[in-house]
Amino acid sequence: MAALDGLEQAVAEISAEMSGQTDRGKVADYIPQLGGVNPDQFGLAVVLADGRAICGGDADTAFSIQSISKVFTLTLALGKIGDSLWRRVGREPSGNPFNSIVQLEYEHGKPRNPFINAGALALADVILSGHRPREALGEILRFIRHVADDDGISIDQGVAISEQETGFRNAALANYMRSYAMLDNPVEFVLGVYFHHCAIAMSCRQLAMAARYLAFSGRHGPDGRTVISPERARRINAIMLTCGHYDGSGDFAFRVGIPGKSGVGGGILAVVPGRASVCVWSPGLDDNGNSRLGKIALERLSRRMGWSVFGA
Ligand code: GLU
Repeated sequence: MAALDGLEQAVAEISAEMSGQTDRGKVADYIPQLGGVNPDQFGLAVVLADGRAICGGDADTAFSIQSISKVFTLTLALGKIGDSLWRRVGREPSGNPFNSIVQLEYEHGKPRNPFINAGALALADVILSGHRPREALGEILRFIRHVADDDGISIDQGVAISEQETGFRNAALANYMRSYAMLDNPVEFVLGVYFHHCAIAMSCRQLAMAARYLAFSGRHGPDGRTVISPERARRINAIMLTCGHYDGSGDFAFRVGIPGKSGVGGGILAVVPGRASVCVWSPGLDDNGNSRLGKIALERLSRRMGWSVFGA
């Protein structure tokens, strides 16, 4: 299969190219536990329609998925309350840093989109309603394990505690939203669920497996089990494309051209509709908080494979 041969070679070559890079960005250290991660790591995994994973570099090393978890909490929140979610959170790019308070004030406590921190707090609140925090977290973890087909996935408690101890800005966002009656549950419960789902640890291979339902119209693969409807998968992909990379979302669309969601742990989860789900990881970040090498690697991969959704 020529196309597949090309892919294996591309993954191997790009992984080798990335190992030689010296300008690797800066590891996030505002969450103290993340500050100690070795920046010299790079992993890449591509999962195809038949479930095969093509991997390079440190694709099996677990890292903190951070904001990538918001893709899964968005899926769960939509599953729970459907389109009424959009009364609680918008779906426009923010053009502001992921933890901006200013925008929230302008917009009366309604977060601009589900992927900025305020939006993800709204998702956590929706998932939490009717549950205790522990049950809500269990639901999130069970869903991720289910879509990844891997029961070994867990929360890194050290990262969760580290963020809980230093998450003053998220606490400010949550309190602010609560003051506008935009959260139904106690602020400390919402924050607890949020910090813990951000602290889930997964490898590139596990994340690429988990995102198959977004690449294949809501199913695990073209012939696989249904997770969500094709329409919902399409819409989540649209939000990933427009809002998935903080205030660097436009540049990601310009350079890479596929839906993706990044996290400050250095991971980027990306979706090539109908073809593949991809995860890349390198802990050093650029000025917008996106993995520096991850973005370069995805740009090269998408270009080599002709994967941009905007045309070959
Ligand atoms: N847990 C991180 C925070 O709230 C997530 C940030 C991110 O990955 O965008 O600051």
